[in-house]
Amino acid sequence: QVIVEVRNIRKEYQTESGTLQVLKGVNTDIRKGEVVSIMGPSGSGKSTLLGILGTLDTPTSGQLMIDGDEVTGLTESQLTEYRAKKIGFVFQAYNLISTMTAKENVMLSLMSAKGKSNSKMEQKALELLDLVGMKERCNHLPGQLSGGQQQRVAIVRALANHPSIIIADEPTGNLDSTTGKLILDLICSLRDKVGTTFVVATHDPNVAEVSDRVLHILDGQIQEN
Ligand code: ADP
Ligand code: ADP
Repeated sequence: QVIVEVRNIRKEYQTESGTLQVLKGVNTDIRKGEVVSIMGPSGSGKSTLLGILGTLDTPTSGQLMIDGDEVTGLTESQLTEYRAKKIGFVFQAYNLISTMTAKENVMLSLMSAKGKSNSKMEQKALELLDLVGMKERCNHLPGQLSGGQQQRVAIVRALANHPSIIIADEPTGNLDSTTGKLILDLICSLRDKVGTTFVVATHDPNVAEVSDRVLHILDGQIQEN
């Protein structure tokens, strides 16, 4: 089942020295339950493509379909709503809210789904934290957790609302390689157990190794292998 369709996406920036064409007609299909990584040299357009897939940025031309919805053409406020429901985000720096416990960080993400009582959200948050081995530390603040533990919390926060895809920008970038590998194991196990679809921009060869597919961005286009 194809969950993301990327059709002839172009992205240009206007700069002092003229028009910079970063993406020059990118095409790919991402299937449900795939881990796809995006690699390429610095400045090749990884963040640009990730931003477009995450609906944070709009392409100059081309089409993006997510879960059967044509995303290109939605207004800014429609996009904000769409993003909250359909897309999860994981960042290099974890980006948990520092004054909230692990459990509260996950509950915050569950709040955007309406009609859930507080106790139900709490129960769900604990279930999710248990899924990544973090239930015992549910009442810790991010500052009391290691980087790898914070990233575990960030990953379940991202998947709490059944997103169609999780967009991860260098999720292992701040971690030592042993911890990074544990995070990758977790991503693969969530793919296998829950069927979560991940798109990961990375420099980390370990990510490429566990990915179902690697999209290399080269000269504005995707080379797949
Ligand atoms: P990567 O993530 O692979 O390092 P980026 O997507 O961040 O690459 O950037 C691709 C190219 O687009 C770079 O040359 C960068 O300088 C340029 N770029 C990115 N964002 C902007 C912007 N808002 N305005 C102008 N140029 C930009
Ligand atoms: P809800 O009660 O809101 O329908 P679900 O139980 O279906 O929630 O799960 C919410 C999110 O957590 C989904 O993204 C789901 O895939 C994921 N999830 C959490 N725990 C599990 C689990 N043990 N097995 C499968 N999916 C899980």
